[in-house]
Amino acid sequence: MEHEPKDITIIGAGPTGLFALFYAGMRKVSAQIVDALPEKGGQLAALYPEKFIFDVGGFPQILAKDLVRALVEQAGRFGEPIHLGQRVTGLDNDGDHFVLVTERDRFPTRSIVIAAGIGAFSPRRLPQPCAEPWYGRGIYDVVTDPEAFRGKKVVIIGGGDTAFDWGTQLLDRASAVTIVHRSDRFKAHDATIYQYKSAVEAGKAQLFTFHELHDVLCRTPGNGDRFSHLALKDIKAKTTREVEADVVLPMLGFVSDMGAIAEWGLRIEKEEIVVNSLMETGRPGVYAAGDVTTYPGKLKLIATGFGEAATAVNQAVHWMYPDKKVNPGHSSNMAIFGQKDD
Ligand code: FAD
Repeated sequence: MEHEPKDITIIGAGPTGLFALFYAGMRKVSAQIVDALPEKGGQLAALYPEKFIFDVGGFPQILAKDLVRALVEQAGRFGEPIHLGQRVTGLDNDGDHFVLVTERDRFPTRSIVIAAGIGAFSPRRLPQPCAEPWYGRGIYDVVTDPEAFRGKKVVIIGGGDTAFDWGTQLLDRASAVTIVHRSDRFKAHDATIYQYKSAVEAGKAQLFTFHELHDVLCRTPGNGDRFSHLALKDIKAKTTREVEADVVLPMLGFVSDMGAIAEWGLRIEKEEIVVNSLMETGRPGVYAAGDVTTYPGKLKLIATGFGEAATAVNQAVHWMYPDKKVNPGHSSNMAIFGQKDD
């Protein structure tokens, strides 16, 4: 399917891309977002929806999923589309405009803002073949609603921040929590590890180090649709033990991939796009903003992504319509928001 041409197409519906979509509308140009994931919010929605964020201006503290909700509301103000579940795989030139290509559709566009974060990412899956048939049926690699695990026996596999964050957050909800990790070295905040280990000492949780998944077992007669136990292998002692489990949460990090974007002739350093202070990539009409960019002094933060999105969109607007100023003026004065001046 070929979509109608837009002035700006933004790759990525993370915080940077969502703010860029709002900003394009504020500058009265047409725009759209294309994102590979099935939901909006980028890392906030996919990796840490239930964590509080403390360093976004104007919000003393806000849950990541609530910040996404507010960004989506703001981005939707001008009714421009967000196309989800479409990974950008190619970039064509067609006369005076670009065409962004996904597996399904083509998106003609006069300019591009790449807000692709750490690239299209997917959770790293458990390497054991015995786990594969249970994905979506008891094995979940993204937690969207922790309430779904109330009263369940939960086994978390991994030793990083996400494993220990969920381990501690599920203590009051799950009927049992077990963390399984291949070594005794963890890549998590000391305070969270301490909190979890205290729960272990109090008999409220379990921690198996130097263990890995060996098998997924159905021990409940007549119920082959659900597993009831996991066999865990002690990789030092070469023994196995069984633990009860209703739910397994592999928290093994994410694999991310710049994919096709890395082949567009942009200057890429360590999977990041080198930009100047105008958020230009070196290819006229192609701008970048947010975590995907690098420059001296770069900070990978939500707050910096917002500023970079505004710069990228203002530059793109001026590049397409030289009579439109780079500087947008103040939103508090704009007629588009029902204010007096413009
Ligand atoms: P992302 O959020 O990564 O979004 C990029 C989007 O682009 C994704 O949705 C992806 O699917 C899409 N995409 C990529 N490639 C393609 C493609 N080829 N085709 C289509 N779509 C594509 N920052 C803070 O400021 N404060 C915090 O407290 C904080 N806490 C964090 C906690 C954790 C656990 C993590 C992992 C990060 C945290 N961050 C925090 C960092 C913050 O989340 C990032 O800086 C922010 O998400 C960057 O936003 P972005 O929009 O640039 O990229």
